[in-house]
Amino acid sequence: MKYRSTRGGMQPQAFSDILLEGLAPDGGLALPESFPRVNSETLARWRTLSYAELATEVLSLFIDDIPRDDLNTLTHAAYREGVFDSAEIVPVKPLYDNVSLLGLSQGPTLAFKDMAMQFLGQVFEYVLTKRNGTLNILGATSGDTGSAAEYALRGKDHVAVFMLSPHGRMSEFQRAQMYSLQDANIHNLAVKGVFDECQDIVKMLAGDLQFKAAHRLGAVNSINWARIAAQVVYYFWGWLRVTSEAGQLVSFAVPSGNFGNILSGHIAREMGLPIHRLVLATNENNVLEEFFRTGVYHPRAAAQTHATSSPSMDISRASNFERFVFDLVDRDPVKVIALWRQLESNGEFDLSHLKNRFTDRYGFVSGCSNHADRLRTIRATYERTGVIIDPHTADGLKVAQAYAEPGIPMLVLETALPAKFAETIQEAIGVQPPVPVGLKDLSSLPQRVEVMDCDATQVRAYIQKHALR
Ligand SMILES: *Cc1c(COP(=O)(O)O)cnc(C)c1O
Repeated sequence: MKYRSTRGGMQPQAFSDILLEGLAPDGGLALPESFPRVNSETLARWRTLSYAELATEVLSLFIDDIPRDDLNTLTHAAYREGVFDSAEIVPVKPLYDNVSLLGLSQGPTLAFKDMAMQFLGQVFEYVLTKRNGTLNILGATSGDTGSAAEYALRGKDHVAVFMLSPHGRMSEFQRAQMYSLQDANIHNLAVKGVFDECQDIVKMLAGDLQFKAAHRLGAVNSINWARIAAQVVYYFWGWLRVTSEAGQLVSFAVPSGNFGNILSGHIAREMGLPIHRLVLATNENNVLEEFFRTGVYHPRAAAQTHATSSPSMDISRASNFERFVFDLVDRDPVKVIALWRQLESNGEFDLSHLKNRFTDRYGFVSGCSNHADRLRTIRATYERTGVIIDPHTADGLKVAQAYAEPGIPMLVLETALPAKFAETIQEAIGVQPPVPVGLKDLSSLPQRVEVMDCDATQVRAYIQKHALR
């Protein structure tokens, strides 16, 4: 299994070689030369596997340069009770009729990012140990991604994390979660600025190629292929849990931002998993919903991006979208290059002539949700089932309801637990969401954070002093 770039300008490479890279050298994104196929006999064989065992099976289809036994060790270290607070790792939580939640948020940071990041932490350390290398992860976070990365990489020997966050602008829960980590390889840098300014500092330092090479800077952002591959596993898992026979159809509803999560669903479907609909749900930032409705992709500027009550989906430029467009245009890199050129010059591109393929060929449908919808969905779900869902999951459930069909199970991806978003839950139903055991004392733990000015030279100096050599 070799990987190529969506823009066609990269020599075919093995999994371990693209693992530590961000964008391909030609500015595109890495994808396997073709998607492996899984037939119904194989699916039947996988029914009895544990989550970690299933992860070994699915990931070994994408990773042929790590011996299977080693891969199996990595998946079992990533997906185990103790890291996840459920023996099943990903429980299915029935709501009503055919609608269930796929519980992707039982990991240490209570959001689905843990699913991919826990594997990434294991495989980074494995590959770096083999190569006797080190990596300094530099990133900026407004919450979920940064904490998931820190919990996945804490205590590792070959990786350090330098995570910039906007000083005083994260929730108390998020701050406590990140800043209470005492591991020597985790560095929280609270920058006196907003998230975009943190992001700009990261871009500036990572864009300084000399500095980047000298300190072996890396990233764990959502375009990382290993994250996408790891997420494919739970679509198989979900299908296996709610079906009993070959060929039975299941739909998935996915609260979407960067198009990473639902891209993994698309890949599972291309591999032959009997998925009926991939229901893409956005919040008020509906660039993707608009694309699937009209065929026009028109990303917005940061200034036009709304701050919503499902903040992890407040994204206007979907960094993984190019991987899906590559398939849409028959995997022709020349077409992808032309589209992204148009995007640069016109601010949009138009694929409305391919609109009939979105649903007929690829199963995609879409919808969006706003603050009032979220409150209503959280309230209605609580009244009907007693289950409290988080605002992102509510976006997914709201749109899922429009596409529910008799006889076809609908799995709504639970992308976070409500405890992370207590304010919105309080507003919706007037009660505080339950805080998982073990996290109750989080806010009383000592915090370890370096506060600094919004100034790239200060961040640079800190990295120079603390980076792994
Ligand atoms: C990151 C995130 C999303 C969006 O996922 P994408 O892969 O960016 O589409 C949705 N919900 C929550 C809670 C998230 O953290």
